Parts: sequence; structure tokens; C-alpha cells
Amino acid sequence: MPISELKLAKELIRKPSITPKDAGAINIVAKNLKSLGFKCQIINFKNIRNLYAKLGTKSPNFCYAGHTDVVPPGNISDWSVNPFKPAVKKNKLIGRGANDMKSSIACFIAAVSRFKSKNKKFRGSISLLITGDEEGVAINGTKKVVDYLRRKKEKINFCIVGEPTNPNKLGEMIKIGRRGSITGNITIIGTQGHVAYPNRANNPSDIIVKILKKIKEIKLDNGTKNFQASNLEITKINIDNHADNVIPGSANAVFNIRFNNKHSSNSLKRKLNTIFKSMAKKSKCKLNVSYQVSGESFLTKPNKTTYMVQNTIKKITKIKPKLSTTGGTSDARFIRKIAPCLEFGLVGKTMHKIDESVSLADLKKLTKIYLNILEKYFE
Ligand SMILES: [Zn+2]
Repeated sequence: MPISELKLAKELIRKPSITPKDAGAINIVAKNLKSLGFKCQIINFKNIRNLYAKLGTKSPNFCYAGHTDVVPPGNISDWSVNPFKPAVKKNKLIGRGANDMKSSIACFIAAVSRFKSKNKKFRGSISLLITGDEEGVAINGTKKVVDYLRRKKEKINFCIVGEPTNPNKLGEMIKIGRRGSITGNITIIGTQGHVAYPNRANNPSDIIVKILKKIKEIKLDNGTKNFQASNLEITKINIDNHADNVIPGSANAVFNIRFNNKHSSNSLKRKLNTIFKSMAKKSKCKLNVSYQVSGESFLTKPNKTTYMVQNTIKKITKIKPKLSTTGGTSDARFIRKIAPCLEFGLVGKTMHKIDESVSLADLKKLTKIYLNILEKYFE
């Protein structure tokens, strides 16, 4: 009996696996994969459960990657159903994770169960890399599993990440890379004083405004064939001052840059630090700056597997998917270090929202797409 994607998706949604809680979600995935003959390794890092499951030992190894953790539901009374008691309404399955991305995992497992019953023997192996830490800090999830697999010399030849990639309709978009992301936190330390005697103080708010204007005006690039232009956004400006007649002693700001493969986090840091240093020197202020890099930009150059996936999606959805690098970061940023990967999943319109949902028709179609990709890959 093939596994039903709808039944499995519901079963997964019933587990309130809000990062870092697993709530039994990984075990459900493992139980289903074991029933198909997969060897399952539960890999725990700190309080996070991860799973690497494999069917077969031969090469090539086709991998599917995803996460069972979900974001919090928000105000439960705003939902039309309990977010952890999935229900079908108007041909849509509603629940937290219906879209991002428990249903996609269910579709892939359903696809494997069908593939297996049709192809008793196939040349190669199928694996799943499932983490419980994608929506959170993502330190003890895929990142560490990738290091673990590398140490074990496990070879993955191709990987599909099942994140919701389609903006409005199933079939619109495959992601073949992602922009990088770096957050900068800058503090200017001046000299506090009386507003009526500015000559005795050094106001850091003036310099922070000048610095922010300067970095906002940098033209990083014009974009590339595969990437949109890199962009900097100022996200916070903090001056902690409780009096109206005091020149503040320090001013702080935070900014984020989403960058394409014309830059690296290091090249951006160098560029910014040069500006910061010269402006702080001119204004005789002290400056502290720190950065947090969530990922470098990367691109998986389209190859024959990419086009096979693109054609398979087109055959089933009648839409030719765009090869895109837009959007935020995903675990593909870790996996691409050991395997070429692309991302294709459901329609992301309702992800992280109240009444997150997936259409039943899309569930069926995505299973069919994953099944056809497996068949073509192992042909
Ligand atoms: Zn996700």
C-alpha cells in the first residue's frame, strides 16, 4: 500500500514541533521510512533531533532535505482551526506546517513509496536529511549534520530541498541559489554633555546619521544574470537618551545586507570598515562594530539534472518554472557544501501565517512531481 501524503501530512502537523521542540515529529518520519526499508540514523546535537535516512547503498545518492520544525502559531484564536489539529476546508489542508514544510516531506515520502513499488531494484540510493532546527538559529540542525556526513565520507550526488519555492502557483519557481545575508551592528561613542553647550560635548547621533546615509548610498552592484542587485537596509537606530537637554553619549544602529555572488561577507566587511574608520576618525568618535553572517551567497549552475527537474515540473503543472535566486536563506546554504542542490516545494503564499494551508490538488501534484523526478533520475 503506498503511503498517503495527506494522511502523513496531517499526522506530522498534529505534532506541535515549534523550534527547538521535536514533539515526536522526527519519529513519525523515521517510522514511515523504516516501513519502506530505509536505514534511519537519529543524529542529536544538543536538544535538536535530526534524521539521516537512506535506502540502498549504491551510487548515485539522491537526497531530499527538509525540516519538521515550525514557527509559533501566533494567536490561536485567530485561526479557523486549531493549528495543531489539521482540518480540510474548501479543499485545503489547514494547519501549522501545512506549507512550510511538513506537507512537502509527506509528498516526498509518498513519492518514494510509489517509486519503490514500481521499481523493486534501482541503481543508486535515496536519502532524506530531515532537521528539527531550521526556523530557529539553525546551529544544531543541517549545518552540523552536513559536517557529520562529511566526516563519515557520505556522498550525496544531488539534493532537492523541499522548501516552498512557488510564489503563487505550483510550478512557477525552482531556486538554484540564494543571496547571502550579513547583519552589522555599529555603536558610535561620543561625549555626553549639556545641549546648550555642544562645544563641550561630541554628539554621536550626528555621526551615526552621516554614516547610515553614506552606507545606504553605496551602490553595491547592478545584479547579475542570476541574481538581483545586492541591497542594504537599515533595521534599527537606537539612542538611549532619557532627557531632552542632554547630548547622548552613544548611538547605535543595525543594518542587514542581502548580497549576490559578486561579494562575500569578508569583502563587504572590508568595504564597510574602511568607511566606518575614516568617518569616526574625522568626527573624533570611538566606534564598535560587529557582524553576524547567516550565509554566503551561492549559485548551483544549471546542469542537466536542473533541466530534467524543470521539464518534469513543466510536464505536470503546464508551467515552466523560473530558475531563481530570490528570497531569504535556507538550509541549501549548508548542503551545497557537499552536494549540488536546488529547491522545489509547495506554494509559499501562506507560510508562517495564520491559517497556513496547502491545496489538496497541490499535494497530489507535488507527490507526482517528486515521483517523476525520482524515475527520471534513476532511469
Ligand atoms: Zn521552511
